[in-house]
Amino acid sequence: MSYGIIQVPCGRLKICAENGCIISCGWTEEAPRKSEDSLIRETADQIRDYFLGIRTEFTVPCRPQGTDFEKKIWTCIAEIPYGRVATYGEIAEKAGHPGAARAAGRACGRNPCVIIVPCHRVVARHGDGGYTGGMKYKYALWKTEHIDRKRKKRMIDFHEVLAHMNTNQRINYDKVFQQMEKSWQQEGVRPRILLHSCCGPCSSAVLERLVKTADVTVYYMNPNIHPEAEYRRREYVQQKLIHKFNAERGTDVHFLAAPYDPSSYFEAVKGQENEPEGGARCRSCFHLRMLATARKMKELGFDYFATTLTVSSYKNSQVINAVGMDIEEETQIAYLPSDFKKHNGYLRSTELSDEFELYRQHYCGCIFGARDQGIDLTPVNEEARQFMETHDASRDFPELRKQDEI
Ligand code: SF4
Repeated sequence: MSYGIIQVPCGRLKICAENGCIISCGWTEEAPRKSEDSLIRETADQIRDYFLGIRTEFTVPCRPQGTDFEKKIWTCIAEIPYGRVATYGEIAEKAGHPGAARAAGRACGRNPCVIIVPCHRVVARHGDGGYTGGMKYKYALWKTEHIDRKRKKRMIDFHEVLAHMNTNQRINYDKVFQQMEKSWQQEGVRPRILLHSCCGPCSSAVLERLVKTADVTVYYMNPNIHPEAEYRRREYVQQKLIHKFNAERGTDVHFLAAPYDPSSYFEAVKGQENEPEGGARCRSCFHLRMLATARKMKELGFDYFATTLTVSSYKNSQVINAVGMDIEEETQIAYLPSDFKKHNGYLRSTELSDEFELYRQHYCGCIFGARDQGIDLTPVNEEARQFMETHDASRDFPELRKQDEI
């Protein structure tokens, strides 16, 4: 096998050839390296011409290695014309696998020959889709091909709403949310939202509201919860809610969970252990979980990140939204403000918890909050441990994907 590494306007590409065919072309951090192989030199020339806008197709022989299904998907992707996009669902259908949009998405992510097999032209139904290596490459290639980021343009930003509101007063985040929702409806778009969720009960009323206008994936990211058995129990209950909700409402809410890493929480609230609930410790706790959600959202190429935290009548929505807006400011990742406790959101979450027979915890989650409430975590741990001995989410809700499988 021979290889060369070339510099292009948005990064470096490593091109590998074997037996007279290109077998891979991928983004790399390695230093440029010339190759004497004529096929690699020809491929490099064609790629440079592509970036100059004078080439729209590649003529070098390309044979990426993969499963039969992956190869079928890549062949269909290679047929998307320059400057155009197709959705994962359309590609799956074209490959003879209607309904296999997710599998097509995974195959797209495993494309070993970027640009030549233009996986950057594949998008999600209601968003930009992901891109192996990072969205910066996808957007750079879109720019090269003058692909209009229409979806992004049509997804309103909360700043546009705030510009028409008197922000000297206390911001009504429910109104901001309603304005954004109205804009999606006017534009005829359904945004993809990564919804940070603290637990099943809180997410119930939020889901009921969001699924009317958006596609939602719940992100269970709560390293603050202690002890671990209780964390697992709440994670199970979260999945139970989604499972029942989808079955009874005919929705397609997805589920993702971050790995449990309590040390990240203790690190984030270091020095704030004795702060009262609702104070600086909680702000740090919100920031930790919402920032992780924002980063995950960016990785997945969704349209917004949001949180269920504003549904709780025990939590200050002004603080939570300020944290979300700060994160958007820092990261340029779109935040969806909310005040889900409005319109009796909290009451509705208790009603839905009864309807779906959800376990409702008696403390927020952390060891410090429990301590201040005088809650003995020993029986909580024991009860949760026993619960998890007889409950298994992967067995009970096999359709829900976890971790990074989405
Ligand atoms: S009380 Fe709740 S929000 Fe506050 S730090 Fe503890 S777990 Fe986080």
